[in-house]
Parts: sequence; C-alpha cells; structure tokens
Amino acid sequence: MKKKVFILGATGSIGTSTVDIVLHTPEKYEVVGIQAHSDRASLKKLAAFFPNARAYLTSESGMESLLRGITESDADIVVNGIAGASGLMPSVAALESGKDLALANKETIVMAGPLIQAAALKNGAKLLPVDSEHSAVFALIQSFGPDAVSELILTASGGPFRAWTSEQIAQATLEDALRHPTWSMGAKITIDSASLANKGLEVIEACRLFNMPADKVKVVVHPQSLVHSLIRTKDGTLYAQISKPDMRHPIASALDWPELPESSLEILDFSKKFAIDFEPPRREDFPLLGLAYRAAGLGASYPIAFNAANEIAVDAFLHKKIRFSDLARVTAGTLEHDWAQEPASFEEVLDADEKARMRANNIMETLLKC
Ligand code: NDP
Ligand code: MG
Repeated sequence: MKKKVFILGATGSIGTSTVDIVLHTPEKYEVVGIQAHSDRASLKKLAAFFPNARAYLTSESGMESLLRGITESDADIVVNGIAGASGLMPSVAALESGKDLALANKETIVMAGPLIQAAALKNGAKLLPVDSEHSAVFALIQSFGPDAVSELILTASGGPFRAWTSEQIAQATLEDALRHPTWSMGAKITIDSASLANKGLEVIEACRLFNMPADKVKVVVHPQSLVHSLIRTKDGTLYAQISKPDMRHPIASALDWPELPESSLEILDFSKKFAIDFEPPRREDFPLLGLAYRAAGLGASYPIAFNAANEIAVDAFLHKKIRFSDLARVTAGTLEHDWAQEPASFEEVLDADEKARMRANNIMETLLKC
C-alpha cells in the first residue's frame, strides 16, 4: 500500500526536497494534497506531477479552506514545510484529524509545544521531526531509550559570520547574511542561521520535543554540517548522527518511520580526507542564542514572543529597513515584557503571538527614529 502524503509549503526548500523524494519513489508514495502561499506558477507545475492531489494556494483560497482540506483528506502523513508562524494551525489540523506529522516547521513546536504534544497523544498521531538536528536526536533517543540520555548536543554550522570579527558582523549586509556556507534554504531560516536565532529556536524546539530542561540542551559549532547532532548518555559517552548535509535524509526518515528508508543519496566517502571540527559558539557576538535560552528557561509564552519578535525583525532586515545588529535588539526588547502566562489553547497561542508582534513593531519604530 502506498503512503498518502500531503505536502505543505510544497514550493519551498523543504517542499521541493519532499517532492524530489516522492517523484523518485512513486511506488512508495501517493501525493494527495499540495499547498503553496502565493507562488501560483510553481504550484501549477507541481499539480501537473500529481494529478490526483488537491492543490491549495492559501493567499487566494484562505487558510480555512486549507485546514478543512487537511482535516478531510485521507493522507497518512502531512509534511509541514511552511515558513513561519503560519505553519502552526495546519500542524494542528493534521494532528487533530489523526494524521502523522513530519514537521519541518519548527515554529509549531516553539510556539505551542505542550499543546501540540497533547494533540498528537490524544489523536494517536505521531510527531516526526524533520529539522535535521531533531531528526538526528530523535533517531538516537529511539536507539538508546529516553532514560539513557543525559544531554542533547545540537550542532550549528555557525553561518556565514562564524569567523568574522565583532566589528565585521556589525557591518554585515543582507547579501552577506544570505550567503549560507553549507545549506541552501529559504530566506528567513538563512538569516536566522547567520544570527544563530535558528539555533536558538532549535534549542527551544529540542526542550519541548524531547522534554529536556534548557541546561541539558547544548549547542556546538561544527562548520562542515556533517554531524547533525549528538546525545550524551548517562555513562558520559557521545553518540552522533553523521551524513552529508541534505534535507532529503531527515525528510525520508520521517516519511518512512519506523522503517529506515532505503537511500540512494550520496554517502560520505572515507577514501578521501575530510575533517570534523567542533568549537563553542561565540555567544557575545550572537546574542540571539542567549535570548533563546532565556525564553526556553522561562517557558510559558516567552518562546512565542521570541519567535514573533524575531520574525518581525527578520522581515524588516530582509526589506533592508534595519541592520543585522538590530535583530537582537528587537527581540531582546520584546522579551522584556511579561510573557509568563502559559497559553491554555491554540487561540491563546495566537493571541500571544499577535501581542508580541505589536510589541516588536513598536520597538522597531523607536529604533528607526534613532
Ligand atoms: P521556504 O521559504 O523555502 O518555503 C516556504 C513555503 O511556505 C513555501 O512553499 C511558501 O509558499 C509557503 N508559505 C510562505 N508563507 C506562507 C504563509 N503565510 N502561509 C502559508 N504558507 C506560506 O522555507 P523553507 O522550506 O526553508 O522552510 C520551511 C520551514 O522548514 C521553516 O519553518 C524552516 O525553519 C524549516 N526548516 C527548513 C530547513 C531547510 O533546509 N530549508 C531545515 C530545517 C527546518 P510560496 O512559495 O507560495 O510563497
Ligand atoms: Mg536545523
């Protein structure tokens, strides 16, 4: 029996990798739904590949029709490759209708981790991380069992500014920030990789996905992006997951879980010399990482505020309205407010998100006046 797949964010970087997998293994998967937001031409091209799939262009059809479409579809698994907070409610629709969720949209977990875990449990749906670090940790925890694990160590490429001086980083342009050394991804996550906000989001994601306190989730910079993450077991030993950096690895793992996918992707060739380096992150020069740890530790709505403020700031940076160093200022200022209320429903999550966006916009206006 073919697995029925619904691809959200089908025109994006994660979506395109997912499409590549299903097109190369048509005997395994049938695509029953695809969604994009505004890229009509690319969605149309995809629809030609998947004539039996319902296609949604949410900038025109509205989010409601997509949520209904997810709920009513007969998909076995939904791949969520939507960028940003807009990915939350599609994740909820998938889980609440009992579908497994292959989750690239980390915002879903950052914003609503406990509610999402509860929805998955209640509806017998499986939450399968696609973010490469979390996919690695998920596989490692599966092997050793959660009780054996004492620490999670997330790897970070360090982004394009890893070796830049503080003075150089202060002068970084949008073009500099968009030049990621190892991964080719959407614009938002590429900027987040340069500022380490992405690693910050991933720390929160790991705490919430794997039920770990923030001080047990560590970050190490590893420029080659070959080690996707590690766990330390109680006996002090480290175990790593290693492969070439290609998002088709974690996507295929999520699609085939609990089976291991038969892979035709390029493997690491030990007949050639290569290095695996580790170094600590430069926290003073990348303050968004520390801010994320603070949000992770405080919990409640702090992660929502961190994510919302950073989204607002990155959007402004992408439009060349603010400088690279302003990204952390906007987020730090937003976190100064009181986000101690634990959201009791997805509606309350969205309320907190909206409030945080308003705060962040106010802070940005003040910055722009200076
Ligand atoms: P892209 O920007 O490449 O793609 C985003 C997708 O989401 C597009 O299909 C886009 O549609 C759609 N979209 C954009 N805005 C909205 C909206 N408001 N409502 C609904 N759909 C929308 O992003 P990525 O693929 O890089 O990232 C997607 C998610 O996966 C993010 O959460 C990211 O953090 C996560 N992720 C990505 C990785 C990667 O390698 N790219 C790695 C790990 C995690 P359209 O094309 O029509 O605009
Ligand atoms: Mg990642």
